[in-house]
Amino acid sequence: WAKAEGRGRWAVYDPERSARDIARSALVAGLPVALERDEFVLHYQPIVSLLDGRMLAVEALVRWQHPELGLIGPDRFIGLAEETGLIVRLGEWVLRRACQDAQRWHVEFPESRLVVSVNLAARQADTPVIVDTVADALASSGLPAGLLQLELTESAVMGSAGEPLRTLYRLAALGVRLAVDDFGTGYSNLAYLRRLPITCLKLAAPFVEGIRGDEPDAADHRDERIVDALVRLAHALELWVTAEAVETEAQAERLRALRCDSAQGRLFGPPEPAEAIRTRLDGG
Ligand code: C2E
Ligand code: MG
Ligand code: MG
Ligand code: MG
Repeated sequence: WAKAEGRGRWAVYDPERSARDIARSALVAGLPVALERDEFVLHYQPIVSLLDGRMLAVEALVRWQHPELGLIGPDRFIGLAEETGLIVRLGEWVLRRACQDAQRWHVEFPESRLVVSVNLAARQADTPVIVDTVADALASSGLPAGLLQLELTESAVMGSAGEPLRTLYRLAALGVRLAVDDFGTGYSNLAYLRRLPITCLKLAAPFVEGIRGDEPDAADHRDERIVDALVRLAHALELWVTAEAVETEAQAERLRALRCDSAQGRLFGPPEPAEAIRTRLDGG
């Protein structure tokens, strides 16, 4: 059987592979239809202060409520949407919906100052029209610009020069906050970092995973030292730091000791529908 022969393979038909391709093209074809049928939903995950546990922000995370396949996570379709270009329209939908939900929370619970954090794909972030899209999402929802944070990946911001960098400055000039997502996993150009109009670094999950707090072995220690260094770097640049994927109290304890400002992860709550966030704000 050709597949078992590994390197020397010359088989033209691989049933597993073509099943995957069929599933993939079904998702690709389904994406624009899903947008028209309003099948996307946003879940929100709390970002809490490590000082007092207060909910400072929520990150908007998109899901696809597929009529046959059920709830599909973004890891299965964001990449496809980026490849096909649909991410621009999907991203705009996410932005508008997130601003509307956040404005509703802001009107009902103004003292919460809850920030909504929205992920921007590289493809959205490097077109100048994103500035108009964001300005319009703010104006039509009524959400104060200071309550919106945009998350960009390192590759989206570090690669930018000239026009894209101007776009970031124009976004910052709207009054929105800019965060670098998954910091430490891409290529971190530190000389470049100091020129970016950003307000927050989100420490990538792998570093947080390496922090256990219990009997640290050599490897754990290394991740902890990296987090220590990244938090110091961020603070030296007057940036906030959010640790991602915090799952245990021991991790939260260590992060607190390392002066990390805020955190997000299963320990503080999973991504949930908007109504669950409202309940939290209501003290429930
Ligand atoms: P991300 O922006 O880094 O989002 C954080 C991911 O970590 C989320 O996965 C979240 O559910 C997951 N997570 C939460 N708590 C924990 C934890 O305690 N442990 C671990 N290991 N993981 C945790 P999700 O929702 O599957 O999203 C995956 C990625 O999809 C996001 O990563 C983001 O890059 C992308 N994404 C999601 N929504 C959007 C969107 O609206 N636009 C764009 N462009 N990308 C999006
Ligand atoms: Mg997922
Ligand atoms: Mg994110
Ligand atoms: Mg992240």
